[in-house]
Amino acid sequence: MIACLRRVAYSLFSPLLSVAFPRLCGGCGRRLSSAEKGICVGCRLRLEPFEHSNRLLRQRFSSFISPIDSVYAGYLFTPDSVARAIVHSLKYGHNRAAGIALGRLVACKEGLRKEDFDWLVPIPIHPQKLAERGYNQAYAIALGVHEVTGIPIAKDALRRRQYGTSQTEKHRQERIRAMKDAFTAGPHFPQEGLRLLLVDDVLTTGATLSEAAVVLAKAFPKRLSVLVAAVDM
Ligand SMILES: [Zn+2]
Repeated sequence: MIACLRRVAYSLFSPLLSVAFPRLCGGCGRRLSSAEKGICVGCRLRLEPFEHSNRLLRQRFSSFISPIDSVYAGYLFTPDSVARAIVHSLKYGHNRAAGIALGRLVACKEGLRKEDFDWLVPIPIHPQKLAERGYNQAYAIALGVHEVTGIPIAKDALRRRQYGTSQTEKHRQERIRAMKDAFTAGPHFPQEGLRLLLVDDVLTTGATLSEAAVVLAKAFPKRLSVLVAAVDM
């Protein structure tokens, strides 16, 4: 009965909501068609795939004591890239749907399968930032991966200790220092011997993912991998 009423209410108010709050593409900002979700067809085609995940693993994580086994990387993040526009829309434009769509695209691009992983672990943000933004951008991307693969999301595996400031303008050494001890185990920390896939929006220095991986390594995972939607070049 309640579900039926909800459907009726949605059918009545959905057209009004779409006029008041049009769904916009995270890449170009234009209004999406009813068939498009988060990112328009044109922007999907303009995303530039990142194709060097193994070399990236060696370069970005080599200076950390990092237990990461493999990296799945989505798209190139350069100053004029579509991936940058989508990530900005996700983080600063309240466009959660763009992040979910990006997660779906990366999962398809990398051919992820449920049988290869036990949990997706989104990089957490500080509770104060969560309250300000209304959602965790890494969780939105993980949700897209989950929709495609069915891999469950470990929502509270990690906790963020620091509120922090924007990492965008910091240099490499500042970023590394800023992320030291940034994470701690959450209430649903994984059991030992699982195959975990850490999820984040953008890979820059690797400091954030490395710090989170060090905490997750305390669960002695069978395999610890990383998925990033975009790679800052
Ligand atoms: Zn677009």
